[in-house]
Order: sequence, then C-alpha cells, then structure tokens
Amino acid sequence: MKTASPFSFPVSPALAAKLAKLGLTRDADLALHVPLRWEDETRLTAIRDLLPGETAQVQATVRDAKIAYKPRRMLTLTVEDAGGVLGIRFLHFYPSHTKLFQPGETFRFIGEVRGGFLGPEMVHPRFVRAGDDTPLPGELTPVYPTTAGLGQAALRKAVQQALASPLPDTLPPAWLAKLGLPDFETSIRTLHRPPADAELVTLESRRHPAWQRLAFDELLAQQLSLTAARAARRRQRTAPLPARHRLTRAFLAALPFALTEAQQRAWSEIAADLAAPHPMRRLLQGDVGSGKTVVAALACLQAVENDFQAAFMAPTEILAEQHAKKLTPLFESLGLACAWISGGQRKTQRTAAWQAVATGEAHIVFGTHALFQEGGRFRQLGLVVVDEQHRFGVGQRLALMEKGQEPHQLMMSATPIPRTLAMSFFADLDVSTIDALPPGRTPVVTKLVSAARRDGVLARVRDACLAGGQAYWVCPLIEESEKLQLQTAEDTFTALSTQLPELHIGLVHGRLKPADKQAVMTAFQAGDIHLLVATTVIEVGVDVPNAALMVIEHAERMGLAQLHQLRGRVGRGSRESVCVLLYEQPLSELARARLRVIFESTDGFEIARQDLQLRGPGELLGHRQSGLPMLRFADLERDVALIEAARDWARRCLAERPDVAAAHIERWIGARQALSSI
Ligand code: ADP
Ligand code: MG
Repeated sequence: MKTASPFSFPVSPALAAKLAKLGLTRDADLALHVPLRWEDETRLTAIRDLLPGETAQVQATVRDAKIAYKPRRMLTLTVEDAGGVLGIRFLHFYPSHTKLFQPGETFRFIGEVRGGFLGPEMVHPRFVRAGDDTPLPGELTPVYPTTAGLGQAALRKAVQQALASPLPDTLPPAWLAKLGLPDFETSIRTLHRPPADAELVTLESRRHPAWQRLAFDELLAQQLSLTAARAARRRQRTAPLPARHRLTRAFLAALPFALTEAQQRAWSEIAADLAAPHPMRRLLQGDVGSGKTVVAALACLQAVENDFQAAFMAPTEILAEQHAKKLTPLFESLGLACAWISGGQRKTQRTAAWQAVATGEAHIVFGTHALFQEGGRFRQLGLVVVDEQHRFGVGQRLALMEKGQEPHQLMMSATPIPRTLAMSFFADLDVSTIDALPPGRTPVVTKLVSAARRDGVLARVRDACLAGGQAYWVCPLIEESEKLQLQTAEDTFTALSTQLPELHIGLVHGRLKPADKQAVMTAFQAGDIHLLVATTVIEVGVDVPNAALMVIEHAERMGLAQLHQLRGRVGRGSRESVCVLLYEQPLSELARARLRVIFESTDGFEIARQDLQLRGPGELLGHRQSGLPMLRFADLERDVALIEAARDWARRCLAERPDVAAAHIERWIGARQALSSI
C-alpha cells in the first residue's frame, strides 16, 4: 500500500520518518533546511599543493591498496597524481571497498588533509570514481544538519527535489526593493547551491544578502504571528476593571514611601489596561529591588475595588509565602481578606482556603502555580499576577489561560529582557519597565575573592554578624545532581557551624519540608538567625533588609542572571552591602568573562545584554523548557536593524496586505503557529 507523501515528490515512509525527526514535513521545510556549511568540489588541488588542516579535493590514481592490522584493522590506499603521493585510510570499510580500489583506477577524494608520518594523508575522505573527462560541479556542495541514519546524499536529493518546484516570493517586489533584499528564490538557491565563486567567508558569517533575506523573513513571520495574536486578544472581551480609587488610594496613603516616578508610570499603564474591556497581558519588568511588588499590589486592589478577585502567584513556595506575609497585613488593614494556598498545607487548611476563594470571602489569593493545577474555583477572578514570569515557562502560561474566562494578567520579571529580545519574542505582550531603583539605596559592593582566602571571608562574616548584621552564605551550584547539591549544602552548614560557633546559623534548601523552610525563613527575618546557609532557592525575591552581606561559593559555576538575582538579595536596607564572590582557580574563559561582567556592573539591563552576548538568547529565555520556537536565521545581536524593520513591516503588512501576511506565516510557521501565539 502506498502512503500519500506529504511532499510533492515520492518519499518512502522510512525516509519521511527520518525527515520528520528534523522537523521536515513539507516541501517548504526542506527548502528552508539550509546547509551548515559547504564543501568546495568545484576545484581540484594537486597533491603537492595540499596543506595540512584544509579540506581539499584531489583526483588521483590508486597505486596500492591493502588491509593493515596496526594499530587496528583498516584499509590503506596509496594514491598519486602527476606530482605527488597521498596516503588514505579507512577505519570502517566493506569488502566491496577492497574490490573497488583496484590499482590503476582513478577517483576523486575530498577530505581534510593531515600531515602524516609518511607525507600527507586523508582519513575517511568522501570519494567518487572519476576520469579526466568527468566534469566538476559548478556549485559548492551543501552539508546539511542531519540525524542518525540519514546520510548527506539522501538529504541532498530530497532537498533538490523540493527545490524543483517554484519558490514564489511571499513579499511584493516593491517591498524588497525598499528593504534592499534579494528575492526569496534566489536567496534559497544561493544558500543551497552557492556558485563556485561565492565567498565562503561571507556565506559562513551569515552576512551574505541571501542570509539577510531569510533572517528578515523569519523575523517578519514572528512579528506577524505575535502581532496577530495580540490583535486577537484585543478582540476578546473581558470584564473591565476601571480605577475607583477607593482601595488604591488608601493603600498608597498607608505606604511609608511615595512611588518613584518609574513606578508611577508603570502603574498608570497597568491601571489603564485594567480599565479596558479586553484581557491585559502586560509584562512588568524591573531590576531586582526596583519595587515591582507594590505596583502589583495596586493592580490587585483595582481588581478588588471592582468586586473581582486577584491571584498572586510566585514560582516557589518561599517566594509566594514572602509575598503573602508582606502583603496580607497591608491588605487586611484595608478590610480585605487574603487566602494562602500551598502544596505543603494540611488538607483541612487547604480545603478551608479554597472554600473562602470559591465563596468570594477571600479577595486576594497567594500561592504557587499549584493554584491553577488543583482545579480549585474562584468566585470571580479578575486578575492574575505572575511573579518571576520567566520561571514559569510558556507551557504554564498556556495552562493558566485555558481556565475558561480570560482574566487580566500581569507578569513580572526581574530578569530584564534586552530590547531586541523584548521586541522579538515578547512582541505579543505590552511591557512596562521600572528603570530606576527607589532612592536611598547604596549600591552593593562586589568583591571577587579566591577561595584560597576563605578564612578572611569567614572573619568578615563573623564581625558583621556580631555587629548586629545578618548574612547569606550561598552554596555552590551542583547541576549534575540534586542529591549532591543537598549534600554540599549540609556539609557547608556543618562546616560553618564549627568554624563560626558564636553565630546562629540556619540552613534552607529546596528539599526542606515547607513547614521547616518557613520556620527557618521566619527566624531569619526576625533576626534570630545570623547567617543563612542556602542553596540557590533564595535566588528570587527573598527580602530581608538587615542582611547586608552575601557570600557566594564557587561563583564561577553560576550564570550571570543567577548571580545578579542572588546579589539582589542584599542592598535592600540603608547600610552599605557587600557581595563576596568566592571563586576557585583555574577559571575557564567563560567564567572569567562572567565574573568580570558581574564585578563591573550592577545594572540588570547591562548584565542581561552581556549575558545575551555570552550565552545566546535560548538560555536566557529558558526555551528548552518553554518550547518557544527559536530563531534559526536571525541573530538578536547582529540583526537589530532587521528586527526593527520586521516590526514596522509587520504592522504595515497586516494593515494593508493580510493576504501577504497569511502566505508568509504559512510558509514560515505553518503548523507551529499555535505555539507562538501563546
Ligand atoms: P522587586 O520585587 O522589584 O525586586 P520589591 O517590590 O520587593 O522589589 O521592593 C524592594 C524593596 O523596596 C521593598 O522592601 C519595598 O518595600 C521597597 N520599595 C518599593 N518601592 C519603594 C519606593 N518607592 N521607595 C522606597 N522603597 C520602596
Ligand atoms: Mg520581587
């Protein structure tokens, strides 16, 4: 029985399965499956001109072929051309090979040249039988990214077949002229089969116009789908929550400080969104300590003023509880009731809490994302606040939205998203930025200290704590094993308890029972614990202003965003804070670069920008978990101008030529469109 091929040409089910593994399920996918690199088979090099390290093609005649057994079984050839002799080795070969390489037969070999003991050699070159009259190809040979069991030859053939059909442009020629970009068909064909005289350097650096065209197309598709998603959201209806100034004003009056200008700006943007009859989807970003929580609290109050409930979610129990503890008394003083829902709660408590939520007795609910996994009901949910949004991942964002009627949503992130990233991946969100810290903060002083000088650091911790201060000691991150991580935390705790007997020391880590975790945090907050030994669980949101000293062990193992977040735990009070980064020698290049950035800058945006440069956008977005489609052609650093152009053209395209938008999205995103509109 023949299965219908998803392609315009026949493909065996086995091949189709392998192509599908690479995400190639349509002709268009194959056309966009561009080479990783190219090999130059358009020229022959004389053996005497071969240079070690370079990839070259020779045409040579077999002089001798034999199977050697030292150091292991292999087929070795000696081949020659008019001016030189070349050794060739095959470590894996079939009996057919020995028959093929008869003395006197001529082949073309292409491979990397090595300087061997007995002259130049190639190991496992590709080869074809050839005579002097065999023509050389006029184009470079593509080498495609592939998967196990799918050879270059089969993949090349499939791509060639897909390219046999015409590749109509999705964009009008007049637009391309304005953008100064080549047409789609030329770009695609150039990348798959560059002409023999193409400059490999420009091609490989991706600055070639053909690359630029694809990068633009990709960014445009992203902008189109996100802009369309945003427009669709604007068409959705939800209950407007206009400002009534009853609770918000009372709350502001009770605060011991005035909002900064930056907070005020963000707040008025959010208040306006809430008043609109379609669901808000706004990201509130601001550096650690910039005061996002107060703004989010105001948003909750505006929902409650309208007789709706608000849910305040955080990614960890510790953080959710901090929010609850901090905000509940403030809300209660306004006559409101709060509920706290946690996985570690006793069942009766939780049932009671959900009861209060379902009846509407509770106005504001605090919890982790478990809030939306438990299937509990709200009487009337108007707003969801999601703190540290980047920790949730897109999947959870989606789960939240599938809960029926769409509430307004405010996401907060202390990992500042660089402008280009915000413009591309978060184009469906509205963004408010708190770009200044509240006044009266003394910047944290960062010190880099070699682990060899740990004793001096211990003395410093002792002195600070005995003088009435408090400190954090952050244990090294052990990514490979949670068990080891735990072990390290416990060992550190034991060691520090012996080394600093005069201090009260506490330990907090991810595996602690919620009640125990809570007890430790409460004691630390109350000042009963001097020194808190912690794993990176304290990375987000913990707020103890009296703690002005932090030591981070093996700082060289941590990422920039993580270090910045951790450091943000100190510097919250009025006294000068210090963050000591202990590092172990020798430092890798990347670790050195990271430590330099964190040492030199306290500005989260600058750090995020550097991070983007060091790591690439994927890790910053946490896309491995989120499943966000990544950019294959565009580069957020290199292609800033293209991102801006794509954004402008996307708006124009949707307004003037929805047909163009549809065709473009179809080619570039196809079935994946659903993902990017989350
Ligand atoms: P974020 O969540 O952005 O990291 P928080 O909202 O936790 O920051 O605020 C950090 C600290 O700054 C809190 O102790 C908060 O009470 C305080 N704070 C917030 N806004 C102001 C302000 N306008 N003036 C003075 N202190 C502020
Ligand atoms: Mg916070």
